[in-house]
Amino acid sequence: MKYPVTEIFYSLQGEGHFVGYPMAFVRLAGCSVQACHIRRECDEAPWKMREMLTAADVLARVDALAGRGIVCITGGEPTDHDLVPLVSTLRDGGQRVHLETSGIRPVTGIPIEWITVSPKTTDHLQRSGHTLKVVVRPEWSFDEAWKFAEDCDGEFFHRYLQPMTSLNGEMNVNRVADMILSGRNVSSRWALSTQAHRSWGLP
Ligand code: SF4
Repeated sequence: MKYPVTEIFYSLQGEGHFVGYPMAFVRLAGCSVQACHIRRECDEAPWKMREMLTAADVLARVDALAGRGIVCITGGEPTDHDLVPLVSTLRDGGQRVHLETSGIRPVTGIPIEWITVSPKTTDHLQRSGHTLKVVVRPEWSFDEAWKFAEDCDGEFFHRYLQPMTSLNGEMNVNRVADMILSGRNVSSRWALSTQAHRSWGLP
C-alpha cells in the first residue's frame, strides 16, 4: 500500500515531552476530524498531499535524512491510514516510532514507542498514552479551557496545555501559563507546552 505524504523532514521536536530531541517527522496527508476545534486555524494543510510513498520508500527517505533515531508520524490525522505496515517497516529498519494523533480512533495493537494524543474534540476514543496535549483556544475562559482539558483526560503519564497558534502566528503563552498556575491545577498534573520550534526558526 502507499501513504499520502505531505512532507518528511528532520528537525527538533518543539512540543510536548520530547522538546529539543532531534527526530524525523513524517507528515501524512488528510484529516477526517471535521469537528476539530482548531480546524479553521490548522496550519498542517492536511489536504496538501505531495506524493504517495510505500512504507519502504518512507524508511529509505528517513534513513537518508536522519539515519537511525526517532521517527514521529504525524499529520493530518495519521490514523486515517492503516499504520501497521508503516510502523512495522520503520521498526524493522531500526527506527523508534512516535505517533501524534487526535485520538479519534484507538491505536492499540500498533507497536509504537511513544503515543501523544492531542484531542481536538472531547469524544475521542484513544484515552490512554504517554502524553496528552490539549490545545487551548485564546478566547476560552479558564473555566471553559479547564472543562475541555478535563473532558479530554484519561490514563496518561504527562499532560500539557498548549496555547493555540493563531493564523497570524501569535501564541498567547502567558495566558496558558496563568491558567496552569491557577488553583484548578491543584495536583500540578498539567504543564506548559509551546510550539518552541517556531521561536527557534525550525520547521
Ligand atoms: S485534527 Fe489536527 S490535522 Fe485535523 S484539522 Fe485538527 S489540527 Fe488539523
